[in-house]
Amino acid sequence: MGLGYVRAEQAHVGATGVSMKLAARVEQVSPSMTLAIDAKAKAMKADGIDVCSFSAGEPDFDTPAHIVAAAQTALAEGKTRYGPAAGEPKLREAIAQKLQRDNSLCYGADNIAVTNGGKQSLFNLMLAVLEPGDEVIVPAPYWVSYPEMVKLAGATPVIVPTTLENQFKITPEQLRQAVTPHTKLFIFNSPSNPTGMVYTPDEVRAIAQVIVEQNIWVVADEIYEKILYGGVEHLSVGAVGPEIYERTIVSSGFAKTYAMTGWRIGFLAAPAPIIKAAAKIQGHSTSNVCTFSQYGAIAAYENSQDCVTTMLSAFAERRRFMLHSLQSMPGLSCPTPNGAFYMFPSIRDTGLSSLEFAERLLDYYQVAVIPGIAFGINDCIRLSYATDLETIKVGMERLSKFLHSL
Ligand code: GLU
Repeated sequence: MGLGYVRAEQAHVGATGVSMKLAARVEQVSPSMTLAIDAKAKAMKADGIDVCSFSAGEPDFDTPAHIVAAAQTALAEGKTRYGPAAGEPKLREAIAQKLQRDNSLCYGADNIAVTNGGKQSLFNLMLAVLEPGDEVIVPAPYWVSYPEMVKLAGATPVIVPTTLENQFKITPEQLRQAVTPHTKLFIFNSPSNPTGMVYTPDEVRAIAQVIVEQNIWVVADEIYEKILYGGVEHLSVGAVGPEIYERTIVSSGFAKTYAMTGWRIGFLAAPAPIIKAAAKIQGHSTSNVCTFSQYGAIAAYENSQDCVTTMLSAFAERRRFMLHSLQSMPGLSCPTPNGAFYMFPSIRDTGLSSLEFAERLLDYYQVAVIPGIAFGINDCIRLSYATDLETIKVGMERLSKFLHSL
């Protein structure tokens, strides 16, 4: 079985031998391993194989009923046509208000572009601001798509490795040293996918200071900002002060907080010229996000946040169980994550590469995890606990058996 299929592109050659040369940019990027392994686990399940999947970061909850109802009403009212590429004005306004209320970030509706998930917000941004020769600083472990998006935009990702000993956080000094005259952006993701680490407010302030001092821009990917545990606080880097605010672009979305992964609603918040440029690109690629989905998103922000609290307490219970299990297994070393819904244990002591580990675990024990190599670090694996407790219990037993078999 294996995961080899996620490693390489296949050239297209037709039955009569006709072939199409693919663009060089495709050769430079790898397929999304998170999506590929998730699809593989789902296909195995569809074939009747009892897989415990900890692959994609996708909440297993249904979207809250009031959000679904708002979209259904919009559908019944005929909100089924093209809309403005940058999003429904009412949603852009609701997002601006949320950023003010929750994040102390002062934006108006013209600072917001509604996008097809957080992914397209970042992709549009990269296309809008990057050119060949530009560098983007990306701390590793990173979310799988950051470097690939940078490359697709023709620019160069500058990967800065972090360490388990430093909780996988980039230090201000590491950031300062990575800056060159070509640096354009720094991608800052807290809470982090894949590590679940959350930068403390003091750490955020120290990072902000370097960004301002070095006169670069920061892309703050804050999609997990509401998924926090143990009383930790999320500080938006753009809220540290007026100088950093001017150099900040926020990327976020509804998928993780409101169990809306399939709705595809994210957003970009930035100075208006950047938003206009990103919307121009969107206008030539996907056009607007599904119109009636956007009405569901408005309901998500404008109503009670109790649904978020409920999901969060379920995540907290799963986290406790999985963390306790992982920390008691031989060969693993798992730091305590305080955000998102991922564990990122080191498998260094097993002597296996992350791909070998993930392949063997899936093939012989039917447990799907993402190899750390997808995130730029080869001696860790990522497990998502955005799945039910029963699956976690069974999956942990299987993982333990696998580790004892090594
Ligand atoms: N962001 C989620 C993850 O990391 C979903 C998959 C993806 O878009 O890469 O698992």
